Amino acid sequence: MTDPKSNKQPIYNFGAGPACLPVDVLEQIRDDIPDWYEGMSIMEISHRLPVFMELTQSIEQDLRSLLTIPDEFAVLFMHGGARTQFSAVPLNLLNGSKVADYLVTGHWSDLAYQDAQRYCQPHLVASSKEEHYTKIPEEKEWNFSKQGAYLHYTDNETIHGVEFPHPPKVKDKWLISDMTSNILTKPIDFSSYGLIYASAQKNLGIAGITVVIVRKELLGKEHPFTPPTMSYAFCEKTQSMGNTSPVFCWYVLGLVLKWVKKQGNCETLANACKQKSTLIYDVIDNSNNFYISPVVKEYRSRVNVPFRLPSAELETLFLNEANAIGLKQLKGHKTVGGCRASLYNAMPLEGVEKLAEFMKEFEKTRG
Ligand code: PMP
Repeated sequence: MTDPKSNKQPIYNFGAGPACLPVDVLEQIRDDIPDWYEGMSIMEISHRLPVFMELTQSIEQDLRSLLTIPDEFAVLFMHGGARTQFSAVPLNLLNGSKVADYLVTGHWSDLAYQDAQRYCQPHLVASSKEEHYTKIPEEKEWNFSKQGAYLHYTDNETIHGVEFPHPPKVKDKWLISDMTSNILTKPIDFSSYGLIYASAQKNLGIAGITVVIVRKELLGKEHPFTPPTMSYAFCEKTQSMGNTSPVFCWYVLGLVLKWVKKQGNCETLANACKQKSTLIYDVIDNSNNFYISPVVKEYRSRVNVPFRLPSAELETLFLNEANAIGLKQLKGHKTVGGCRASLYNAMPLEGVEKLAEFMKEFEKTRG
C-alpha cells in the first residue's frame, strides 16, 4: 500500500495473501534495507549472530504476550508454509495411530484431509462440500472416530470465507487448527488445543515462515521417516535454527508484531476486524440482491469476505473500476470466481470505508 498521507492516490490492497503490510512496516523496511547491523543488510546477516538471536527471542516473546500463549506450549518458526503442516501434523502427531479426524469446511481443510491420506486413514468427521462450503456442518451431525489421534480443522477458510464462531468441541483428543488467515484477529483459549499453525503472509508478515504453537507434551513422537526440518522436536531443540533460517521473514515478522502491539491486544484486533467486516456485509445485505454473500450468516468470515454480483460481466466491470480507483486485488480465488475482500489487521478502516462507498455507488449506477 502507498502511504495515505502522500500525494499519490492511496492504494488499498485487498489481496488474500501475500497481503498488505502496514505502511509503517514498509517504511521501516525501506530505511533498514542497506544497513541493519554494522553496515550489513538484514538479508546478509547470519542466523547465528547474537544480534539476530536476540531478535528471534524478542519475536517469540511478543507473540507469546500478544496471544497469551501458556508455558506448556513451544513456539516454533518453520519453513514450507502452511501446506507443509498438512504433512507435518500427521507425521509428528499420529504417534502410531492409523487414524486422525478431519473436519472439512472449505478448500484448505479439504487439502489438509487429502494430504493426510499419505500418512494415515483420515476420518471425515463432517464436510460441507455438498453445500459448496457455504457453512459449517451442524455439530449434531459430526461423527468422530474412536481412535483418531487428533481433530484437525481450519478456523477460517480463506477462499470460501467461512469461519468457526467458536472452536469445535472435542473430547479425548486435541484440537489442531490451521489459523493461517485469522491468527491475531481474536483471543485464543488454548485449553483444548494441541497445536495451532499459521503461515505468515496474511497477518504476520511475508511468505517464508510459519508459526507453529504446539503443546510440549506432544513433542518427540514423530514418525521415524520425518525429515528433521519437519520434526517439531528437532525444531524445538534447535530453537528453529536447524538449518539456515529465513532471516528477512523473521525480521518482517518482528516489525509486524511490534506494529500489532501498538494497535492494542487481541480484543482490540477482534473489534477492528468486526467493524471492518460489518461495513462490507451491511452493504451486501442492504443491497437489492445486487451483492450476494454465499455464506450462511453465522459462519461468515471476519477476514475474508467473498461476494458475487448479478453477472460475470458486472463482476469484471466492478473489478476494473475498483482497480482504477486504487482498490486492488478484489478478485475471488480462481476456484470460486466472483469477488473477495480480505480485511486483515494491516487493512486500514479508511480502505474498507472507501470500498463500501464504491460498492454502494456501483450498485446505484449499474444496479
Ligand atoms: N491454509 C489456509 C487457511 C490458507 O489460506 C493457505 C494459503 N492461502 C494455506 C493453508 C496454505 O498456505 P501456504 O501457501 O503458506 O502453504
